[in-house]
Parts: sequence; structure tokens; C-alpha cells
Amino acid sequence: MLVHICCSVDSHFFLEKLREDFPQEKFTGFFYDPNIHPYSEYRLRYLDVERSCKKLGIELIEGEYDYENWIEAVRGLEKEPEKGKRCEVCFDKRFLVSAKKAQELGEKSFTTTLLVSPLKSQQQLKAAGEEFEKQTGIKFVAVDYRSGGGTQDQSRVTKEQQLYRQDYCGCIFGLTMQREQQNKLMDEMFSPICGSTLPASIEERLALYTKRMELEEKNIPYKIVRHKFLNYRQLFFRLRKGKNEIIPAFALAYSTLPRKKAQGRIEYEIDGLYHFNREEIRFLSLERFNALAGTSYASVLELIYDPPSFSIQQQIRNILVDEIYDLSPIIVTDISSISDAKLNIELDAKTYEDTKEKLIIL
Ligand code: SF4
Repeated sequence: MLVHICCSVDSHFFLEKLREDFPQEKFTGFFYDPNIHPYSEYRLRYLDVERSCKKLGIELIEGEYDYENWIEAVRGLEKEPEKGKRCEVCFDKRFLVSAKKAQELGEKSFTTTLLVSPLKSQQQLKAAGEEFEKQTGIKFVAVDYRSGGGTQDQSRVTKEQQLYRQDYCGCIFGLTMQREQQNKLMDEMFSPICGSTLPASIEERLALYTKRMELEEKNIPYKIVRHKFLNYRQLFFRLRKGKNEIIPAFALAYSTLPRKKAQGRIEYEIDGLYHFNREEIRFLSLERFNALAGTSYASVLELIYDPPSFSIQQQIRNILVDEIYDLSPIIVTDISSISDAKLNIELDAKTYEDTKEKLIIL
């Protein structure tokens, strides 16, 4: 039986149940989910499915990530709510490709782990499965592992196996709507030009879940714990001298400006920290920054394109202002070029409550 797999949270429990119900059957997992966006999230979900199938001793095949085709298939349905028409097309596409794969492999039946997800309409899935059974002759196995306490059992398995729990269905459209309803920043879509890994980003999770695979291979006990923290994303930052001259400058993580703009000039200097006359903004030179961070950036541009981690930036902030909850803008730039000038600062940044995972070696 070919089993289309959407994520490890659904597949681990589903495959365990299938094995109980079909003890003579040989199962092959098929991860075909070009709906998942961004690609880093796709890789993360695949990584966890790979681990889960390995644990269960089930062969896994990765389908093509044909995102452009998927986008084309749902064109015009972008604003549909979850469980609406876009989801029908999304299931159809994944079903069709899975059924074709089953045919290609000479399988007699196929099913999907989507059937166990509490967020999906079983009716919709069954209708799509039966339609393809008619078209292809391959039996669609519509099991119900949700009722009779199934959802609670699934949740227990998820915790026991420490599976990666994503918090959105998969596509960019569902994600956009969900974040709008939650009034939450869509930080999954941030990808800084410098390529650095932001706190609680998909890239950070990908590194964490890759590391845990390595620990498991070496039989090193670990635990993944979650904790709440204040997260930060910088959307836009620019320093101008007068109206037109842009000065290369880097705003440290957790720099915020409630009105997003400030105009003024440097008023005084204490211990190499230059204080602006508005909004508690401070400047420091690249030399001072290098000395504090233990770095050797040759220019501010170099710093912009390859900044140190958030935690190092926070350590520098703490040294400079001696206050762990400080959110004042701290800007690294060439002080000599701005010391007597009228300056325009534009900074759009968000701080928000967030949750992140931590890997603890026991
Ligand atoms: S919300 Fe989920 S099921 Fe619906 S279209 Fe997006 S990825 Fe597919």
C-alpha cells in the first residue's frame, strides 16, 4: 500500500495504526507536498518524516517539489478559507500524483495521512479518494483513526516521539490568513539578505532537528523543550544625512522606533556612546563595536552583510546600556561622517511574544 504522507505528526501515528490493522501489508511512504511554503519548511517537515519512517522501518520516497504547478492549480482560489475549494484542489493534486505513483510502483491500494488530521475534512478527503479510485482502479483506503479517542492518542504519540509540530497547514495562502486572524507577524517569510539565522525561524528549527538526528545516531539522550521569549524582526532601516545622503549603518537587534522615523542630531557623548537628541537613539563607531564583539569588520557594509548572531548583539547592548530589557535603537556607523549633521533615521521593527524550541542534552 502506498501511503501519501503530509507530516510526521500525522504519519507516525497513522502508520502505527495501519500496521496494526493490516499486518500482512507492506507499506511505502510517499512524501508529496509541493503545497508547503517556504521551501525551508518543506525540508524541515521532510526531515522529520524521514526520521519517523526510519524508526518505523518504512521505506520513504520523496516526490517532486513542483511548487509552480501547485500554484498554477490553485490560481484564483487564493482567498478561499481552509477546508474550502483551494483545499479540494490541493488534495486532488496530491491524490492524483500519489495514485499515479502507486500505479507506477504496481501497488493495489493507497491512502493518505491527511485522514488523521483534525484540521482536514474527512468527507472532502474521502470524496477525492473515491473519485480517483474510479479513475485509476487503485483502491483508496479510507480509515478513520480520529474517532474513539484517536486524536488524543495521536497527541500522546507526538509528545512521546518528540515530533516536529508545525503550526500551519502548509501553503502561503492558509498561512497568510491564519497570521492575519491571529494578528501575528508572518515571520516564516523573513529571509535576511545577510543569510543569518533569526531566532525561532524555520532555519533555526531545521538546524535543531538536524542536530537531534545526529544525537540519535550516536545514542545521546536529549529532550526538546519549548520556551516563551521576546522575538524581534527588523523590516526596514535607513540612516540619512540631510535628506539624500545615505550613510551605511547597522541597527543592533532589538532596536525599535515606535513612530518609525526620527529627525535630529547627536547631542553628547559618554564613554564612546553618542546620544541622539530624540527617541533614546545611540550611535557607536565600528571600532568600538569590533572591540566589544571581538570581531574585525573592515567596514559597516561588511557588518550589514554578515552580522554576528542576535545573542552577541544582545550582549553588546547589555554592556552598552546595562539594562536587559532595553529596546533603544543602537546604531553602528562612521561617527566622523555624521557628528555635526542633521540626521534622518527610519526604522521599522517589531518585537513580539514568541515560542522557540531548545535542544537539551541529558
Ligand atoms: S490550507 Fe492546507 S490543504 Fe488547504 S490549500 Fe493550503 S496547504 Fe492545501
